[in-house]
Amino acid sequence: MHIGFIGTGTMGQPMVNNLIKKGHAVVAYDVVPAALDAAVKLGAVKVGSSAEAAKSAEIVVTMLPSASHVLSAYLAPGGVLEGIAPGRLCVDMSTVDPATSRRVAEVAKGRRVRFIDAPVSGGVPRATDGTLTIMVGGDAGDVEEARPVLGAMGANIVHVGPVGAGEVAKLCNNLIAGVAAVAVSEAFRIAEGFGVDPKVLTEVISTSSGATWAMSANHPVPGMVPTAASNRDYAPGFMTDLMAKDLGLAVEAARQLRVPVFVAPAAQQLLRLASSSGLGRKDFSSVYTFLKPSSDQAPV
Ligand code: NAD
Repeated sequence: MHIGFIGTGTMGQPMVNNLIKKGHAVVAYDVVPAALDAAVKLGAVKVGSSAEAAKSAEIVVTMLPSASHVLSAYLAPGGVLEGIAPGRLCVDMSTVDPATSRRVAEVAKGRRVRFIDAPVSGGVPRATDGTLTIMVGGDAGDVEEARPVLGAMGANIVHVGPVGAGEVAKLCNNLIAGVAAVAVSEAFRIAEGFGVDPKVLTEVISTSSGATWAMSANHPVPGMVPTAASNRDYAPGFMTDLMAKDLGLAVEAARQLRVPVFVAPAAQQLLRLASSSGLGRKDFSSVYTFLKPSSDQAPV
């Protein structure tokens, strides 16, 4: 298939790589030239705008940081909806609030263009392996049309419900993942303070009730598990700022429904603090480095 791919950053690059490896032709656009050049090295053809990327594409895929970028890439002058032919399908794989997906879908519909949301989980390792979990919101027919393209990037493709429902599933998942990452960092700081070897604690927790992806795959302590960003000086991975954004999406969704939430806002504020101390573009597991014990060693 001919795919217009917009947003060739941390996740977009390995996703483009898999699309090309599986025989799709990719025309790519990113506002950052270095990110776009990286996609060209993988075999994509570069163009100068989202509209151009969408022009000849059978399917448009977007992988952008947050809602404002998605609105701009689709709706602004030079955006997807300016270039795309009527009848085509757009797949937004960014993590944004469900209302943004519904808004873009509505405007697209007015121009006879179809839109589904398909956010992902699995991070860079599974984007690289082509084994992402992809949670999809949209009409069943549109989801089936996108399935071969999604299948080149992911192994678990779940149709959750109508447009926006994929994003609901994603923000629920990231509420758990973000909170767990903070909890794991706190736990390992406490263990270290008491002189417990982090390797031994990892062994204990991995077969106990605290076991979680935030430890088994993305351990905040360097040298514990090979896949972790902590081994690469917390190079993302998944940036602290993006996880803070996703916890914000969960908190906002809860606010709309008047569901009381306590731990998600606490985790979000901690990540924001970590960000303001320079960790915003590091992997979110770097919150562990932010939770340094006090230098005052006097017992309390
Ligand atoms: P990123 O910032 O590395 O990449 C996004 C790319 O979009 C950047 O290269 C940026 O220049 C580009 N961009 C921004 N605005 C644009 C526009 N108007 N037109 C064209 N390009 C534009 O982010 P990422 O880590 O690849 O994440 C992308 C999305 O996937 C986010 O919503 C994130 O929450 C989600 N996500 C990321 C991970 C992860 O591990 N990194 C995992 C799951 C989901």
